Amino acid sequence: MKTGSFPYAFFQGKIVPIEDAKVSVMTNALQYGTGFFGGIRGYYNNEQNFVSLFRIEDHIKRFIDAAKILGGDLPYTSQEFKKNIIELVKKNQPKTNLYIRLFGYIGHTNLSPNFTDAHFDFSSYIIPLEEYMPMGKGLSLLVSSWQRINDNSISTLAKATGGYINSALARKEANENGYDEAILLNKFGNVAEGSAENIFIIRDNKLITPGFSEGVLEGVTRKSVLKVAEDMGIETVERPIERSELYIADEAFLTGTACQVAWIEKIDRRTIGNGKIGPITSQLRKKFFKIVNGEDEQYSKWCTKLEIEN
Ligand code: PMP
Repeated sequence: MKTGSFPYAFFQGKIVPIEDAKVSVMTNALQYGTGFFGGIRGYYNNEQNFVSLFRIEDHIKRFIDAAKILGGDLPYTSQEFKKNIIELVKKNQPKTNLYIRLFGYIGHTNLSPNFTDAHFDFSSYIIPLEEYMPMGKGLSLLVSSWQRINDNSISTLAKATGGYINSALARKEANENGYDEAILLNKFGNVAEGSAENIFIIRDNKLITPGFSEGVLEGVTRKSVLKVAEDMGIETVERPIERSELYIADEAFLTGTACQVAWIEKIDRRTIGNGKIGPITSQLRKKFFKIVNGEDEQYSKWCTKLEIEN
């Protein structure tokens, strides 16, 4: 997938044309993956001319937490991050759904990977984003032969740039074998998550997802779906999931900022449930899209609405 971007980025403390947001080939983060990132979706409403940013504060919090985990400083407070991101969206005046990338990185060019006295630079850019995973069909997934990184090798709670080599290897294996996405097992051999998505299964009307000790990212979409399900009276359980339990689930889906709520039709060529989107997934997905588009009063606090000029 080739990615275009909106014209302006936030780089070295100010908004600049995207062409000017450039770093040296010697940049430490480019050489060693010594960075971390975040991603926020914005939903454009063309009738009322606004963009609704989904859970911006939660994404910023996870981003700041990542700097703490890696042991370095960031140049802004959470309020300043929010202000900078909002200014960047307004400057770009987007008229499509979008994805905002936050990037913290070691911007110096010193040799050797080292977070001692680390100061992270910050940059941000925005791309138009509709579908990340095909939404019109059920996904076909492969349980990867690559194991999900564990928290004692690279923190699984920070979206650490270098850790995404693990995702890229699993995604390559899945895509080159004709699957849409990979599911990674963890060091215990239990189900962890997709290459950049959390996973849920439904069995006997219970919504089940692996807990944090299974090495999963604390997904903002994951926690939103858990809360919405509870509010709807659906029983939710966070516990280990065995590989073969995937095959006999009644329903299964992935969640993530990019993929949103994407239902799974097949895993390792076994059909999940009856091969159609299941009732609980369908209900949650419908509710999710209403919420993120800023059309559900009950969850309006999750959305930051920004007016866009005509
Ligand atoms: N797991 C991984 C490894 C991810 O990169 C992502 C994407 N951020 C997710 C899960 C989903 O998290 P979120 O819902 O916050 O986008």
